Amino acid sequence: MKQEIPSLIETLNQNNISALYVENGKQALKKVLSMIPEGSIVGFGDSVTLRQIGLVDALEKGNYTFLNPWQSGVSAEDNMRLKKRALTSDVFVTGTNALTLDGKIVNVDALGNRVAAMLFGPDQVLIIVGINKIVKSLEEALERIRTTAAPLNVKRHTHFDPMPPCGETGECIDCSSPWRICNKTVIIERQFDNDTYKPVITVIIVGEELGL
Ligand code: SF4
Repeated sequence: MKQEIPSLIETLNQNNISALYVENGKQALKKVLSMIPEGSIVGFGDSVTLRQIGLVDALEKGNYTFLNPWQSGVSAEDNMRLKKRALTSDVFVTGTNALTLDGKIVNVDALGNRVAAMLFGPDQVLIIVGINKIVKSLEEALERIRTTAAPLNVKRHTHFDPMPPCGETGECIDCSSPWRICNKTVIIERQFDNDTYKPVITVIIVGEELGL
């Protein structure tokens, strides 16, 4: 996929979505931190990618108001409060489930807090995506989510009881589990770019495998 990245960045730019490429997680961390002004209120869409590159640690230790609903010790009530507050954060940081070569940012959410913040509210949305999440088409993106991302995400949520079937078998059966995580599918295609509404999303593509 690496050779496709320049044209992918061009496509995203044509869709009024900023995009840039860095070689690895270390560079991604440096770049993302350079884009978050100190003192910012930072929302977080739970993301293995962000943990892997060290961004969650850096935001917890740095001079930010970091709204992390998944920090240990956060109550269920505060978890929900932080998710709601993230919708109007200065900067929202997140991963994505898939990015297509024609520039679509594709995500499936359980509750919807992550995709809601990606769609509207924060002044800036930074999406960090490993090269393994880049796929050829929307069909491949949805396939990736059901066969790879969702089963792995189900497994890491150890409090799911009962666990949706894909967590046990790795296979999606389009379940109706009470803990089904495939509830809200969002495809971001373009953004406004005019005097009233400035684009807010930047995609940071990382040249290594990251996340689920
Ligand atoms: S619909 Fe159910 S079984 Fe299929 S991937 Fe989502 S949670 Fe797993």
